[in-house]
Amino acid sequence: MLVDGFGRRIDYLRLSVTDRCDLRCTYCMPKGFKGDEEPQQWLNFDEIERLLAIFARLGLKRVRLTGGEPLLRKNLPDLARRLAALPGIDDLSLSTNGTQLAKYACQLRQAGVSRLNISLDSLDRSRILQLTGRDVLPHVLEGLEAASAAGFRMIKINMVATAGMSEPDIDAMVGFCAERGFVLRLIETMPMGEAGRKAGFVDLQPIREGLRERFGLIDGVVPGGGPARYLVSPDRRLQIGFITPISQHFCETCNRVRLSADGILYLCLGQEAAVDFRTPLRNGCSDAEIAQRIGQALLARPARHEFRELPGRSVRFMSSLGG
Ligand code: SAM
Ligand code: SF4
Repeated sequence: MLVDGFGRRIDYLRLSVTDRCDLRCTYCMPKGFKGDEEPQQWLNFDEIERLLAIFARLGLKRVRLTGGEPLLRKNLPDLARRLAALPGIDDLSLSTNGTQLAKYACQLRQAGVSRLNISLDSLDRSRILQLTGRDVLPHVLEGLEAASAAGFRMIKINMVATAGMSEPDIDAMVGFCAERGFVLRLIETMPMGEAGRKAGFVDLQPIREGLRERFGLIDGVVPGGGPARYLVSPDRRLQIGFITPISQHFCETCNRVRLSADGILYLCLGQEAAVDFRTPLRNGCSDAEIAQRIGQALLARPARHEFRELPGRSVRFMSSLGG
């Protein structure tokens, strides 16, 4: 059983398959970032499949592929197919910036990815250029269309709350998502690395109350197992989630761990606690030994992040861990 020292059941793993990205979102990557690790450090697909099979035997149920930009990892649909087929894994999802989605949406769906989270912070082309460093809005919109056509069970749009985000920006995104049947999620910026700290913090609580009033929303539940708290319209055409790690943290119910592309298991997004799994995988450890190491690692899981009290602590930036 995957249970940590505080009795929290862990059934969800976010798997970063690369720390590279084709974008440079201001809150995620530091300017001029070039420190990509060499691919030989990354777990190969056999290693990933073996490690996640061990996790699944211990009770892991859900896996999210993330990055960096996961669609930059060569042959990602092959990995998705292998993970979707693991006994015990009943939910495989993907987080992406959408720039490559037009090309991969169908293949991913066929491989067994059932849900997508797509990052899109604005529908304004120049603002996307300013936030990501590239003029990619048309590509992302094309990717969204392809994803809609490919028949995913659920598509969520992740919109990070950044300084300069206006009420009309948010309302435009609400209308866009409602028309297409997407779930919108607004996310507070976390002080991850220098980039996250420089981006500044926007409190989602007043934004949430403003949306509740403007659109006549009520509290609701949307499946997904994550920490978002939702407002929905009575006809459920509008579904808006709020991820508020800073203004209202949710650590006491945290059900997830994160594996980086180079095989390090991170036990909390905001703390340094981490355990290497690449070395035992490559040193001939048995499945039983690796399972034991997983159990020990979970006992070292911190109670909670301290983004508010110690915002300078986290030196890792988000692209190395996948959110
Ligand atoms: N490249 C993919 C994408 O953008 O969806 C996957 C990786 S990205 C690191 C995962 C999520 O983390 C995205 O929704 C992104 O907006 C979010 N993110 C990145 N930096 C963040 C920060 N400092 N605070 C809050 N969310 C952040
Ligand atoms: Fe890349 Fe995603 Fe980070 Fe943006 S949020 S820089 S798309 S990893």
